[in-house]
Amino acid sequence: MISGKFTDEWKRTVKCGEPRVADAGREVVLNGWLRARRDLGGIIFIELWDYTGVCQIVFNPETTPDAHARAKDLRGEYVLAVRGTLRKRPEGTENANLPTGEVELVASDFVLLSPSALPPFDPDGADGVNEDLRMKYRYIDLRREGMQKNLRVRHRVLKYTRDYFDKNGFLEVETPIFTKSTPEGARDYLVPSRVNPGEFYALPQSPQIYKQILMVSGCDKYMQIARCFRDEDLRADRQPEFTQIDVEMSFVTENDIISLIEHYFAGLFRETAGADITLPIPRLTWKEAMERYGSDKPDLRIDMEIIDITDVFRKGENPFARTIASGGAVKGLLLPGGGSLSRRELDEWENRAKELGAAGMANFQMKDGALKGPLVKFLSGDALLALAEKSGITQQDVLFVMSGEKWTASCEILGQIRLETACAFGLAREGWKFLWVTEFPLYEWSEEESRWTAVHHPFTSHVPEDAEFMKSDPARVLARAYDIVLNGSELGGGSIRIHDPETQQAAFDALGITPETARERFGFLLDALAHGAPPHGGIALGLDRLVMLICGAKSIRDVMAFPKNQKAQCPLSGAPSRVKQNQLETLFILSTAPDDE
Ligand code: ASP
Repeated sequence: MISGKFTDEWKRTVKCGEPRVADAGREVVLNGWLRARRDLGGIIFIELWDYTGVCQIVFNPETTPDAHARAKDLRGEYVLAVRGTLRKRPEGTENANLPTGEVELVASDFVLLSPSALPPFDPDGADGVNEDLRMKYRYIDLRREGMQKNLRVRHRVLKYTRDYFDKNGFLEVETPIFTKSTPEGARDYLVPSRVNPGEFYALPQSPQIYKQILMVSGCDKYMQIARCFRDEDLRADRQPEFTQIDVEMSFVTENDIISLIEHYFAGLFRETAGADITLPIPRLTWKEAMERYGSDKPDLRIDMEIIDITDVFRKGENPFARTIASGGAVKGLLLPGGGSLSRRELDEWENRAKELGAAGMANFQMKDGALKGPLVKFLSGDALLALAEKSGITQQDVLFVMSGEKWTASCEILGQIRLETACAFGLAREGWKFLWVTEFPLYEWSEEESRWTAVHHPFTSHVPEDAEFMKSDPARVLARAYDIVLNGSELGGGSIRIHDPETQQAAFDALGITPETARERFGFLLDALAHGAPPHGGIALGLDRLVMLICGAKSIRDVMAFPKNQKAQCPLSGAPSRVKQNQLETLFILSTAPDDE
């Protein structure tokens, strides 16, 4: 079929999703893609789609035989311009599911603007389609209503963000993509320099050092919608390149940044999700979050909390006595509705806890007014009473109990059981639950590297009272860092930075980074800090995850136009790909590809 010319007279006068019953009688032109075609008793119906929706079009053999005859050859995803008159659909043929469902366009003529190869999947039914296939034919996938909605929500979020920070006096500054490696804990993507043989740029893991240098430069309030690159193993919500809303401010403390970001979220969620976020957003210290919810990003839509029941087990012989004597704790988690769990189901939950690393997980249920469970025989009547009182257990519930020598590990296991049981029992409420988590530890011990590593990054300040422990007891030092959490997902984090070179060097020392290495890697930051650095701090928010939550999407890939798959490949373009031997030679890199390529 030969494509017709696209001339002024064929330009759309309305979009496909716009016609309403009040438009009946109007002559209009529609431009769009053919979505569905039905031949009914000689009459041909098609649905024409554009990003605003679909409109039904009728070709009648009696009134417009020419257009009708040509319409027989039209197929899915052909691009058309159709002229006709809108009319109210005949009684009983309306489609209540479509905004345009009360009208149809009676076609008088059309031109085919582009035919289409047979689409590899139906854009209307692509939900079950293999994701790599969706990515390979992303242009078809993006023609779906859900994907169009996601792209548009993302645009709204970007627009709101720029406007908000602009109104608050921020300057958007673009920082380089070819940089020196900045440490955010992941592997760098490297780019060889042709003009500096043997040397490499790193793609930024974040603009961290540049934004700090902008504070030394007197920029005062910086923001950037910044692309970041991290060469990590890809999990469900990770991508090799992703976008951050990156913020830095001078002459501020934690409260300034927290307040700025809270108001940002309140406005953003009002505008994009119609939600009312109550301010101030609650805050928990990291220690409280771990103790009560077993997570540094608790989902507060779930009410269940972990309780400490060490005291109940302190007296007498019981399986926890040794752990308690060596300083360990016993923790409990009450699952409302768990009273009906059978022996076998309880065993399954215990197995799950073991999979997560627990030595075991005991349970108590209340039957006929008395506690039942494998540990009852070890506890006195008073202890059982205390346990019932402390946990508030009823006939309907089960109390899971676990001990552990390693505090963080046992908190985290019960925290995971909290999430999974809440999910199984439908205990998470609807809505948006924001939370700040503050006072993270500054350092954590890395078994792999046998050294202290920065929980956030090495430029984070410690709380002033903990300065003396930086050398003697790094585990105890708290950071002036904060994370913002939404419904159990970390949306972002930041900190008040170190702003003098001596403290920065002391922080490097604590991390086992020698002055020589520090100079070689971060000399430019240390120099900047020595030239009049204002106190400063900032935050970075993960845009992709934020948009994903607002859209209710299942993965960040669904809110990115052209994402990579789980193997960091782009099925659409075929990246990454091999390059020619001579390209490598120009870059002074030895080839591993066969000679003929
Ligand atoms: N640069 C940090 C990150 O990407 C955020 C910050 O401290 O502002 O995680």
